[in-house]
Amino acid sequence: MVKKLASYKVLIMRNECVSCGNCIALCPEYFEFDEDDLSHLKNSKRIDENDEIEFDDVNCCLDAALSCPVTCIHVYEDGEEIS
Ligand code: SF4
Repeated sequence: MVKKLASYKVLIMRNECVSCGNCIALCPEYFEFDEDDLSHLKNSKRIDENDEIEFDDVNCCLDAALSCPVTCIHVYEDGEEIS
């Protein structure tokens, strides 16, 4: 039986970001500052104030989420929040 790969969703609640830069330092492939100096997920969809994107692999996004001092980065694995 073939095991289904997990799917991950990463979300930033941008209105809570304090622009500390931790996520960008740890995971620059996925995070950057936007023009408003708040963190932005590259190639993501912006829904209201939040950025959302889905991946097959969580990569460094989990480290970024764990480094956020205001816990405004949320990571979901198969729909269940893991950070
Ligand atoms: S770690 Fe959190 S507070 Fe710091 S820039 Fe990233 S999203 Fe904003």
